[in-house]
Amino acid sequence: MSTQYTPVIGLEVHAELLTRTKMFCACPVVDTAITKPNTSICPVCSGMPGALPVINRQAVELGLRVALALNSNIAPFSLFARKNYYYPDLPKGYQISQYEYPLALGGALTVTTSSGAETIQLRRIHLEEDTGKLTHASDNQGKYSLVDLNRAGIALLEIVTEPVLHSLESVRAYSTGLRAILKYIKASSGDMEKGAMRFEANISMMKVNDLELGKRVEIKNLNSFRAMEKAIQYEIDRQTRILDQGGLVDQETVGWDDTNGRTISQRSKEEAHDYRYFPEPDLPPLIVEESWIDSIRLSLPELPLAKKMRFISTFELNDYHAALLCIDPDVADYFEQVVQCKAPVSPQQIANWITGDVFAYCNQRELSILEIPITPTVLSYIIDQVENGKISRANGRQVLIEAMSSGNRPEQLIQEHGYGILEDEAALTTMVNNLITQAASEAKAYRSGKVSLLEWFVGQAMQQTHGKADPNHLRELIRKTLDKQVTNNQ
Ligand code: ADP
Ligand code: MG
Ligand code: ZN
Repeated sequence: MSTQYTPVIGLEVHAELLTRTKMFCACPVVDTAITKPNTSICPVCSGMPGALPVINRQAVELGLRVALALNSNIAPFSLFARKNYYYPDLPKGYQISQYEYPLALGGALTVTTSSGAETIQLRRIHLEEDTGKLTHASDNQGKYSLVDLNRAGIALLEIVTEPVLHSLESVRAYSTGLRAILKYIKASSGDMEKGAMRFEANISMMKVNDLELGKRVEIKNLNSFRAMEKAIQYEIDRQTRILDQGGLVDQETVGWDDTNGRTISQRSKEEAHDYRYFPEPDLPPLIVEESWIDSIRLSLPELPLAKKMRFISTFELNDYHAALLCIDPDVADYFEQVVQCKAPVSPQQIANWITGDVFAYCNQRELSILEIPITPTVLSYIIDQVENGKISRANGRQVLIEAMSSGNRPEQLIQEHGYGILEDEAALTTMVNNLITQAASEAKAYRSGKVSLLEWFVGQAMQQTHGKADPNHLRELIRKTLDKQVTNNQ
């Protein structure tokens, strides 16, 4: 029955901006996970009465960079507003955000899914400030909560889509694509483990011919792509069940409980008027001049989509590998550096190695490509050794892994393991000659037409080299030797 409904999804993404100081004060932005609590705070971000906020120019600039990259219309005039609510992590009793006059309106991000290109329309992009962080704990006297305001006041950019996403695949494509852009333009680290990028997903269900959108449920606390996908699927299933049974979905805000894999109702949906928004009286309107926008536009780097198209046309990569390499600008740069090395290997071979063994290694250890001690020159050397038949593929991968974990030079690793003896062509030829002499009957059968025996010879030779030889190279050598003997016998 569930097929008669289509999911309608809108995403709100909060990204911590990479500013040096907070949104409205001069407190340094610190890594809250490792910094002593409440050491980077001042009267402004800890909500002391009478303390005055000042707009952080760098935050505005980063917000404008994102807006331009997403083709959003920058407002020449925008306004900060107070969003009033009480929570212990919000010392002022209100959050400074933007409401009626956001930094930018509209815009879009074009992504690729299995059904082709899809353009996700944006609703708005605005600036706001982060809240503090609560830690709930208990000891023998009972439960208590700790408040750390180091995060309070850090600049956030909120990017809101229209309700135009209809599948998990589109959600995934949009959120990874958006994260890539944030990283490319160095507006945000996009680091979800550290909470630098967080999602809220709004979901409703729609019948094929419906003209109006259904009641939506907003899911908060989504801190990873995985959690977001699980939560959205859970909500789609839940709403479909209710609708199939003839029920109505309540508009509400829920939290995602990742441990138990379910959503928990937090409150029936608040309306904007519950927040008593009003213009922030302590801040002037934000006026963005055309000349500023122009200079920012000129300073934007090549964006993911453009880079991908260039990789495809310049390096003849396939779409799949080009897209994988362009998700992270550091990976894309690294790839280009390997291409520039002088080893005779093709860009597609390099792409295969990076998206294969190098990615696997980085993912397993949660490392970025910049954290592995292997220079582009070293990687291109290893690829050359394997692709040009100097060592076997299996050994090459082993050398790569050891080089990535130890930083040792591959020449040295190859020598230590004795992988390099196989470059000794004379020794290999002798081994093959001996093998064919010993297996006289197989050699005879091969010559009288049973060519499939070639693989049997390759297997024997691989055994003799303890799996260290390159099977392709051996195959050629054996074929040549067998054919030569045929000629000799005639
Ligand atoms: P707020 O959550 O602050 O009230 P909006 O009403 O602008 O803000 O909506 C927030 C998000 O919810 C947007 O991403 C929007 O696309 C999405 N949204 C709005 N209505 C629906 C709906 N009926 N179904 C799914 N998503 C929706
Ligand atoms: Mg919302
Ligand atoms: Zn401060």
